[in-house]
Amino acid sequence: MSKFTVAIIGAGLSGLALAISLQRFAPDVDFEIYEGAAELAEIGAGIGLAPRTWAMVQALGIEDTLLKISGDGDRPMISLVHRKSDQAEGVDFDRVEVTERNYSFHRADLQNAFLQLVQPPRQVRLGKRVLAYEQSDDGIVLRFQDGTTARCDVLFGCDGIRSVIRAAMYSQFADAAQRAGRPEEAAELRSHKAAVFSGEEMYRCLIRKDQLLPDELKNHPAISSSVLIVYCGKNKHLVTYPIAQGRIINVGVGISIPGTEGTIYEGPWTSPAGKDDIVKGFGSWEPQVQEIIKHVDSGLKWAINVVTKLPTFIQGRVALVGDAAHAMCPHLGAGAGQCIEDAFMLAHLLARPDITKANASTALQVYDEIRRPFTQIISELARRRGQLHHLTAPQFADLTPELSATGEALSMDQLWEVGKTMQQLRDWQDGSSVVEDVAGAMQRLDWILAGA
Ligand SMILES: Cc1cc2nc3c(=O)[nH]c(=O)nc-3n(C[C@H](O)[C@H](O)[C@H](O)COP(=O)(O)OP(=O)(O)OC[C@H]3O[C@@H](n4cnc5c(N)ncnc54)[C@H](O)[C@@H]3O)c2cc1C
Repeated sequence: MSKFTVAIIGAGLSGLALAISLQRFAPDVDFEIYEGAAELAEIGAGIGLAPRTWAMVQALGIEDTLLKISGDGDRPMISLVHRKSDQAEGVDFDRVEVTERNYSFHRADLQNAFLQLVQPPRQVRLGKRVLAYEQSDDGIVLRFQDGTTARCDVLFGCDGIRSVIRAAMYSQFADAAQRAGRPEEAAELRSHKAAVFSGEEMYRCLIRKDQLLPDELKNHPAISSSVLIVYCGKNKHLVTYPIAQGRIINVGVGISIPGTEGTIYEGPWTSPAGKDDIVKGFGSWEPQVQEIIKHVDSGLKWAINVVTKLPTFIQGRVALVGDAAHAMCPHLGAGAGQCIEDAFMLAHLLARPDITKANASTALQVYDEIRRPFTQIISELARRRGQLHHLTAPQFADLTPELSATGEALSMDQLWEVGKTMQQLRDWQDGSSVVEDVAGAMQRLDWILAGA
């Protein structure tokens, strides 16, 4: 017997993680997944899951499934190196051996594995693009592009960075502020409908290790060892790591476009990229980078857009989840993990026997109180890590690409300092626990329900 019905909009990582978490922890909550695409496209490249996330993977009982598709063959965990590389001879300045549990995946493999874990008959309803929702005391009505409607008691917008649910929610907030005679607040609220540009474009492509590789590449540190290497330089970085059980090396190139952070990105957010686009501007970089880019083929260009500082993730019994709520820069490899954490906490809150349709909004209020500040901090840490990768942090304001290319502008001590800060920006992954956060959420919910 279902205690209430949930609609999950979007079958990306957050929608599927929410479905799996509800199945596992809240079996008396009935859910439907509505996905706008006619089929689930296998887009994306490498994705990493950090130790904090892995605790949830274990709690969900899906560790064995994910180990079969993670990392570098028999080594699911990879180590991490940062190098300064925009100079004739590169130098390592941060190295973390395989003590951390960092797992890497092809995004399509991960999404597929999640999809397989959603139990039939709860099939994903494809081709159901939501256009709008209306919420009343009775429930929530969804309107789809195909002219149909559906009802639910609780709605989760897991519909990604261009979330229609977020746009609808913030339009409703803004309209209410406007009607109440607060036009400035209305304008501020309306600004949250769209994601903004992070100031960085990223190219992503793959080198297949299972194809015949020239000797120089076979022995390359990025190819021959289980390691994630970030080659850093002024306004740019190149990152490599193994995915798909080591059959593929994921190659990412990030480029800062100074002065554009926070603007609205004009042009397509993803588009095909030729080799020339991907490798341009690496002329003076160290040989390790030259060897990689020589073997790069075409790929995809991503404009990295972000959703920052939303004043709330919820409206009554509607909540934003994953990228819809907090799409962030990829520099911490944290976006997917944060989607799973949202799902994990929501399922625990909704699973409580004392949560019913009548007070489900209270559970969502606790989700918002705990997950919003946390994800917004992680998003800021990812932004700061990107500034270190690209040597654009405030302490490097005077460092020009030309100066940086001399290899003498920054001392080894300064680079160690950067490495130390990078480690500090990762500390949250080990030092904190999702299980503790969920326990805190339960206590907070007890407190609110008791009317304290
Ligand atoms: C370049 C790049 C690199 C990244 N690297 C990493 C990494 O290393 N580690 C990491 O943890 N994260 C990484 N991320 C982030 C990670 O990919 C995202 O955080 C995560 O995939 C978001 O999942 P989601 O389900 O919230 O959104 P999405 O994956 O975007 O899924 C949203 C789903 O909703 C559907 N949808 C959209 N609108 C509607 C609608 N109106 N009606 C119905 N359905 C709809 C879409 O079709 C889609 O299936 C990276 C992101 C980028 C851009």
